[in-house]
Amino acid sequence: MFDSRLYELERQGLLRNILSRSSPQGPRINMKGRLLINFSSNDYLGLSNHPLLKEAAIKALNEYGGGSGASRLLAGGTELHEMLEDKIARFKEGPSGLILNSGYTANVSCIPSLETQYIFSDELNHASIIDGCRLSRAKVYIYRHCDTGHLEELLYSVPGEGSKLIVTDSVFSMDGDIAPIKKLVALAERYNALLYIDDAHATGVLGKGRGSLRELGLSHRPFIIQMGTFSKALGSFGAYVVCEEPIKRWFINRARGFIYSTALPSSIIAMAYKAIEIVETTPSLIETLYLNKERLISILKKSGLEFRDSETPIIPVFFKDNEEVMRVSEKLLNEGIYAPAIRPPTVKMPRIRFTITAAHTEEDMELLERAINKL
Ligand SMILES: *Cc1c(COP(=O)(O)O)cnc(C)c1O
Repeated sequence: MFDSRLYELERQGLLRNILSRSSPQGPRINMKGRLLINFSSNDYLGLSNHPLLKEAAIKALNEYGGGSGASRLLAGGTELHEMLEDKIARFKEGPSGLILNSGYTANVSCIPSLETQYIFSDELNHASIIDGCRLSRAKVYIYRHCDTGHLEELLYSVPGEGSKLIVTDSVFSMDGDIAPIKKLVALAERYNALLYIDDAHATGVLGKGRGSLRELGLSHRPFIIQMGTFSKALGSFGAYVVCEEPIKRWFINRARGFIYSTALPSSIIAMAYKAIEIVETTPSLIETLYLNKERLISILKKSGLEFRDSETPIIPVFFKDNEEVMRVSEKLLNEGIYAPAIRPPTVKMPRIRFTITAAHTEEDMELLERAINKL
């Protein structure tokens, strides 16, 4: 039965396969013996293979061992976990922090545990948010992408005394656009809702790395829950929420992915901690990231391709149909450029989604320029 289902996926051009590296993540990767320039990773600052992160991991491995052996509630966590929670709270300029095992786990655990009656979710939110909404028992309203007018209509339509949660990605991963957070904060305040902001792609990137609130000149409010990951720009793994202390304690008691899952190994925690220190002390990393992004934009402008210049390192280049996007992606691959095609139903418009990093060199960019000019 699964053979025929898989065949059907393949026939529709929707079959997915695992691709593996034989090198560290970075601007140049080795895949199946081929050296490729990589424009598909979320390792925006090139920290995942940073010597100081690896050194921190090895030190923690030696001090605390490999696996953590139990959940946080059963002493699976270490002092390092608590230090990272303090660190991320201060970095994000909020009251308290809690580590979760991944961004996916955070969203499917924390969103349902809030037990709100109504959830309002942007139509382009990440799959983990969609799943978190599904797992909750709330009535879920989907508002049109970044359409705060539509959101307000929906907020207005439900009983005023009902508990409400507005949930959004801050940076949308397929377009690189930024949610109207200022407006969302105002609406959450006006309608007495909680606001849950997923800063997965903003952490380490926007607002000097501190995320979307800082980028937009906003500060923490009691009704805001910031969530984000250590797995993208911070080069490690795992996730956090930053929120009021009672909400954190509620998550400790109710978020099932926190309670019923083994704590992250301390080596992973130590890398995340070191990454935050590096972001705090090395502003040139984010500056280089944005210089590289501007370099990509100037290459794309000259190329005549249709693209979106976002405020983030995620730059989508659009094509009219699946055949064309596949053809261009293949051609780039033949030139040693890894920039995969993304097709419906993942997105409406077929595209190549370039992600640029601080670790790309001028030579990488020149090779990309040459490959694009050949198209
Ligand atoms: C990557 C991502 C996640 C999932 O985080 P993981 O740590 O990879 O599980 C959640 N939300 C958004 C918006 C993401 O981009």
